[in-house]
Amino acid sequence: MNLRDRPRRLRTDGVRPLVSETRLDATDLIAPVFVDATTDERVPIETMPGHERVPVDEAVARVEEIRETGVEAVMLFGIPNAKDEYGSRAWAEDGVVQEATRRVKAETDTYVITDVCLCEYTSHGHCGLVEPEAEENPRLTVQNDETLELLSKTAVSHADAGADMVAPSAMADGMVRAIREGLDESGFSDVPIMSYAAKYESAFYGPFRDAADGAPAFGDRRHYQMDPANAREAMREVKLDVEEGADVLMVKPALPYLDIVRDVREAFDHPVAAYNVSGEYAMLHAAADKGWLNLEETAVESLLSIKRAGADLILTYFAEDVAESL
Ligand SMILES: [Zn+2]
Repeated sequence: MNLRDRPRRLRTDGVRPLVSETRLDATDLIAPVFVDATTDERVPIETMPGHERVPVDEAVARVEEIRETGVEAVMLFGIPNAKDEYGSRAWAEDGVVQEATRRVKAETDTYVITDVCLCEYTSHGHCGLVEPEAEENPRLTVQNDETLELLSKTAVSHADAGADMVAPSAMADGMVRAIREGLDESGFSDVPIMSYAAKYESAFYGPFRDAADGAPAFGDRRHYQMDPANAREAMREVKLDVEEGADVLMVKPALPYLDIVRDVREAFDHPVAAYNVSGEYAMLHAAADKGWLNLEETAVESLLSIKRAGADLILTYFAEDVAESL
């Protein structure tokens, strides 16, 4: 037995960190925050242990808790006090995300990213205006072009409230261009866009829908979100967003789509973000509750694998716990 090549030589304690290829930092992580205009107190989210919806009055306190762990950026989602078929509370000056953004920016130096979509704000729960008759006809859902102006208005209202970055998630064709134009015309040419460029119609979003009260009242989102079977199409989607002016390219979900994260990393020079979604979080918690997995170890390994696949930024419900453990 004469093995010359022994990779194990570089796995001893002293040398392991020296040859480690991937490093996870608290500054890679973005913590999602749910701000709820319908409540005066914090409401735990049952399917996402450790997370809660917080009233606007608690938004700053919630963000400060996150900052103490070393995480420097948050993504704000809003649950409005009223919904209508247009989602008009999404771009209201006194809307829930706008109010929370104003307060967090006034009282902390946190980097605030806002989710730009309409599904939390529309009475039907879809990510834009729906076609007349959509409720009766499952082949119809969102009116793409009519929705663009509303998304643009929403993004501008967030920037106006002080958002550092906007993140459109509606998967409307042309949304990045519409938002870029809206921001530029309103004097926000410095506000970057993190596009949910390849967002799949995924069953892993289930717990989020509890959190954000955003399940569609009828139909589903397969007409505008991507088919989980498709990888080449993701490249087309991402390329369009790059051409329209996206600054950061997001793949969502993360773990079941690491091939897409890698493909985007290799094909584009822009920063790549991956969204480690609610279902990815909930399933580790559920298994850990049963004593089947070690929560902290599997969480760190998950995020490390997302970085190794090529993500620069990771949106994750594990942000605080992992940042604290690093
Ligand atoms: Zn949406």
